[in-house]
Amino acid sequence: MPKRLSAIVTGSTSGIGEAIATAFAAEGMNVMLNGFGDRDAIEKLRAGLEEKHGVKARYNDADMTKPAEIAGMVEEAAEAFGAVDVLVNNAGIQHVSPIEDFPDAKWDAIIAINLSSAFHTIKAAFAAMKENKFGRIINIASAHGLVASPFKSAYVAAKHGIVGLTKTVALEGAQYGVTCNAICPGYVKTPLVEAQIPDQAKANNMTEEEVVQKIMLAAQPTKQFVTVEQVAALACYLTTDAAAQITGAALSIDGGWVAH
Ligand code: NAD
Repeated sequence: MPKRLSAIVTGSTSGIGEAIATAFAAEGMNVMLNGFGDRDAIEKLRAGLEEKHGVKARYNDADMTKPAEIAGMVEEAAEAFGAVDVLVNNAGIQHVSPIEDFPDAKWDAIIAINLSSAFHTIKAAFAAMKENKFGRIINIASAHGLVASPFKSAYVAAKHGIVGLTKTVALEGAQYGVTCNAICPGYVKTPLVEAQIPDQAKANNMTEEEVVQKIMLAAQPTKQFVTVEQVAALACYLTTDAAAQITGAALSIDGGWVAH
């Protein structure tokens, strides 16, 4: 029987991260959940994964702006599961504003959560992955890791940064069975995207419906949102033996966005 893999998914109390954690558990992986939110809802999610899929599911509330808490989460997962085989850096926030009004604190928070947290999780997990001669690191970047849009200076900078980090980690892990890839989704209908519709409307002087049609889906030639399940399926694939030679890649799942 193949070894049961164990994973950490940051920011897995909502949206894409929750879908990835759920898909991993359905594949038989142990999962460490992380992220903010209502404690009862998080406990329901955690217990549900254990009950439905017969895996171990834990929750750690590490704040991705706090390196010591991040290291503690990685240590807890390694102890609880015996190893961290799969690490998904998914936690992320957004802020939409013209650069001259962009709050300094938002810039710092976005760089910390969307970029630096991945450095800290990888730093904490990497030595053991190399020693085990197996590791799968998946960074949830964005189409904005490859191309820019106006009013998202911090997010675009962080996501381009994470694509660069992905390549370096891939090179450092290449001879140890450790792969590192970035997934670059286009617009996925999650709370993160729903929250930016009113801000985009203000920044662009449009109605909310115009934002969805003229900004969001205009970027995606398929004219459809990506689903969280589609992103989770790609993450699952990257954990399989079939994906052993995919490393250092920025994989687009964006309805054709970066093709034009
Ligand atoms: P979401 O808002 O639904 O979920 C974000 C998760 O991150 C939540 O679990 C939240 O609690 C957690 N989080 C936020 N700040 C945190 C912190 N300081 N410490 C720990 N956890 C924290 O967002 P989503 O749309 O599912 O986004 C997930 C990832 O996918 C992000 O990195 C985002 O940039 C990326 N992404 C999203 C889209 C999209 O269209 N939704 C597109 C491309 C990339």
